[in-house]
Amino acid sequence: MIKGATRRRTYKAIYRLLDRVSPVPFDCGTICGAACCNAAASDEEMGIMLLPGEEKIHDRKADWLEWESLSSDEYELPGTWKGKIYFVRCKTPPHCPRKMRPIQCRSFPLLPHLSEDGELTLVYNDYELPYVCPMIEEEIELDERFIKATTTVWKHLIRDPLIYDMVWGESRAREMDDE
Ligand code: SF4
Ligand code: SF4
Repeated sequence: MIKGATRRRTYKAIYRLLDRVSPVPFDCGTICGAACCNAAASDEEMGIMLLPGEEKIHDRKADWLEWESLSSDEYELPGTWKGKIYFVRCKTPPHCPRKMRPIQCRSFPLLPHLSEDGELTLVYNDYELPYVCPMIEEEIELDERFIKATTTVWKHLIRDPLIYDMVWGESRAREMDDE
């Protein structure tokens, strides 16, 4: 298991803060058949990666999730990540205990991005996806409270050096792709 600096109680506080917001004021799953949740559960290449230590607030025996652990070497991750990382897949998408959705689900369709001078912003998810997310494609206006809370959360998360390294690496790769 990769030992991050983010504590269990911090993850709990983050989940509580993000429980209060949604990207849009309606169930966006109704416009696309919950494409992201269904893909995360059925596509071998997908799944939801937990951040280092995020697994501590999940019950490995909970019946709605399937767990897989992979060595960090098998995955494109920062060199500072040494050990096992956890991927989860939902067994009954799009239904899940809402309060237990991982951070990856809660941030979507946004991702954290660090500029060269270390400023954190959020950008639309720009990874190749096996489905079309209308929120990204049509740039549907996202709720200000969601953007604000998600920014606050990522500003906190990147205080963990491992999470900082991940966001930094992904940001540099994104900038190279944009050139
Ligand atoms: S986030 Fe995008 S893909 Fe997922 S349910 Fe909402 S609109 Fe659909
Ligand atoms: S945890 Fe919930 S929101 Fe996230 S992929 Fe599973 S069903 Fe969808």
